[in-house]
Amino acid sequence: MQDKKIRVRFAPSPTGPLHIGGVRTALYNYVFAKKHNGSFILRIEDTDQKRYVQGAEDYIKESLKWSGIQWDEGPDIGGNYSPYKQSERKEIYKKYLSELIQKGHAYYAFDTPEEVEEMRKKIESENSGNAQYDSVSRKYMCNSLTLSEEETKKRIESGQPYVVRALVPENIEIEVNDIIRGKMKVDSGTLDDKVLMKADGLPTYHLANVVDDYLMKISHVIRGEEWLPSTPLHVLLYKFFNWEEKMPQFAHLPLLYKPDGKGKLSKRDGERLGFPVFPLKWKDPKNGEILSGYRESGYFPEAFVNTLALLGWNPGTEKELFSMSELIDEFSLEKVNKAGAKFSPEKAKWFNHQYLINKSSEDVAKQITPVIKQKGHNIEFNKLIKIVELVKDRVNFVHEIWDQMSFFFEPPVEFDKKIVKKKWKEKTPEVLNNVINVIENIKPFDANSINNELESFMQKNEISPGLLMIGLRIAIVGEAKGPDIKEVMSLIGKDEVIKRIKFAIDNIP
Ligand code: GLU
Repeated sequence: MQDKKIRVRFAPSPTGPLHIGGVRTALYNYVFAKKHNGSFILRIEDTDQKRYVQGAEDYIKESLKWSGIQWDEGPDIGGNYSPYKQSERKEIYKKYLSELIQKGHAYYAFDTPEEVEEMRKKIESENSGNAQYDSVSRKYMCNSLTLSEEETKKRIESGQPYVVRALVPENIEIEVNDIIRGKMKVDSGTLDDKVLMKADGLPTYHLANVVDDYLMKISHVIRGEEWLPSTPLHVLLYKFFNWEEKMPQFAHLPLLYKPDGKGKLSKRDGERLGFPVFPLKWKDPKNGEILSGYRESGYFPEAFVNTLALLGWNPGTEKELFSMSELIDEFSLEKVNKAGAKFSPEKAKWFNHQYLINKSSEDVAKQITPVIKQKGHNIEFNKLIKIVELVKDRVNFVHEIWDQMSFFFEPPVEFDKKIVKKKWKEKTPEVLNNVINVIENIKPFDANSINNELESFMQKNEISPGLLMIGLRIAIVGEAKGPDIKEVMSLIGKDEVIKRIKFAIDNIP
């Protein structure tokens, strides 16, 4: 069956760097669109000029690109429903706002912010109802419902500041259908008359968002749970405009929680707990504060995306590794959980490890080459691939590899004292001295022959592996770590191995 044209949007406000929760929202929208051969739209919701942050829009775009999330329509590439930036659509909202006022679904309100605040405090202190501008309080506040038509007109013409509010009907039930959460019913009496246009003449999020979703023919609104309380108002706006048949389906995604499950994952948690909560590094243009990012911390974008994919969605199987195209195949909104998802930095590292070990050693070797050059070393590429093969399983990040392989390039000058004390026995120097002759005659100098010759040396001389092999490891690596020592020896080469053994004998007391 042919899908009805699926059109979804990611609609961030450029008020700062994009939180990983935002990237997850974009990702779910993207894979949902691609699964249904639909379109994924990027719309910048920048009507709140006070909260606009320089650089945030570029940051959002770069984050999505790095994550492999490409939009089909958007501010930079255009599309059939341009412009895709709300600050460039002001005239459109004006038209729709007038329609609402004309139909009696919205009204002018002249109260100053102080007066609104006073009203709220009064209700709170008297405990006399909902402390909000709603069907009760609007009856005594200063607005076009309480003023005469003439007075309203006069005030507008004289330039008195005003906002436009939605006129929420009394005593009706608003039904919200959510793909993830099911059906919800909300009593209109609990809602406030939200501002639709601010005193600066710009629409608020609620108006602009609904108008744009309608005009851009959005079929599904997939967004964070924090927008669920606004949805009844949005449903109401669709009713006001008579757009009910075109109303998108809603899906509100679960929140991301802190690793301990106590509260929402916030900007501060990353720095406090030592893991990034942003896709890319961000420098606050105002105070210079730096927030760390997944990209700069050495994560592969595929691992980052995989981590996010499973925070709130479960495939219903044990499978954990998903490429983008597998996500597109297997994702469904029905399998998104209602309950919040606990973020685990350890799991994120685990994913990176999985992607690292699944990459070809050649690929990883290419990535590590600049580090090796920077350390002043040169190595034949094929040999580097073999080294990478031996050590990549021991790390989570490419940048951790150098630590695991440095001894291939730099002979130990010091020896781990603890391990020397425990494992470098009185007999070790003599045994190592004897094995030098054996090593000199191993041909070819590969792991297999090294293994055979050392085995027969140990058998003939009744030497335990605990003595010889650990002695060799201390001499060659300098400490107890590292991959199979025969493999290490073959890659380091016969001459260098012998040199290191002699150096250790002479220098370990
Ligand atoms: N501009 C809103 C935000 O910043 C969009 C919410 C929505 O998707 O409706 O998250």
